[in-house]
Amino acid sequence: MSLAPERLDRFARHIVLPELGGAGQVALSQAHVVLIGCGGIGSPALQYLAGAGVGQLTLIDSDDVDLSNLQRQTIFTEGDLGRAKAAAAADWVGRFDGAITVRAVSARLGSANAAQLLAGANLVLDGCDNFATRLAVSDACVQLGIPLTSAALGRFQGQVANFAGHLEGQSCYRCFVGDAFDAEDCDTCAADGVLGAMAGWVGTFAAMHAVRVLVQGQAALGDPQWGKLHLLDGFTPELRTMRIVKDPECRACSAA
Ligand SMILES: [Zn+2]
Repeated sequence: MSLAPERLDRFARHIVLPELGGAGQVALSQAHVVLIGCGGIGSPALQYLAGAGVGQLTLIDSDDVDLSNLQRQTIFTEGDLGRAKAAAAADWVGRFDGAITVRAVSARLGSANAAQLLAGANLVLDGCDNFATRLAVSDACVQLGIPLTSAALGRFQGQVANFAGHLEGQSCYRCFVGDAFDAEDCDTCAADGVLGAMAGWVGTFAAMHAVRVLVQGQAALGDPQWGKLHLLDGFTPELRTMRIVKDPECRACSAA
């Protein structure tokens, strides 16, 4: 497959990178990414995935746009207040690049509908705001054999990692956090606060991590770095990396 002349122009700064190149750009154009959460992480991640020419995007979010979101959720404006985030985000994609196939899903993802919503994706990028959804997403990704870019955010801290728990020897998100967080009583930004620009750092870091997975086998950038958790500290600031090993007792991925 080759790219049309106007697409070559659009992605010229990518194609000229030897580490990405035309083959990497074609891989991006053929990819289907499912984005979980169109909020603080999802907004900048979506902007850079769309900017990168990812060919198909499914946007899942059950919330509506609230005034307090605008401090960090960069795709929304005052005109979007009260609208479903997934629909408003899909409209943003449509205005940005009409060549992208985009689908909005205004539903909450849980263990009952995860497999159906994620099937067919080349990658899932999870930037949601609660552990119950994260674990449901991770378990479904392991089950379906889909790579997961997981990103989380709070106050001045962020975490980003690529997981491939369906592969032998590779950990999943559940290996990292364990089974204690399945209940829906966990953290949101409302209680603890979050610096708006931290969402940008974490979301763009996650978009870069997603690109690494999508161009695997096609470009030098395509090293997914499975199971390496990057800890972003915006207060100090500092970046640290730790390795999440596969838990032989993990109830999601230990069979892989
Ligand atoms: Zn696991």
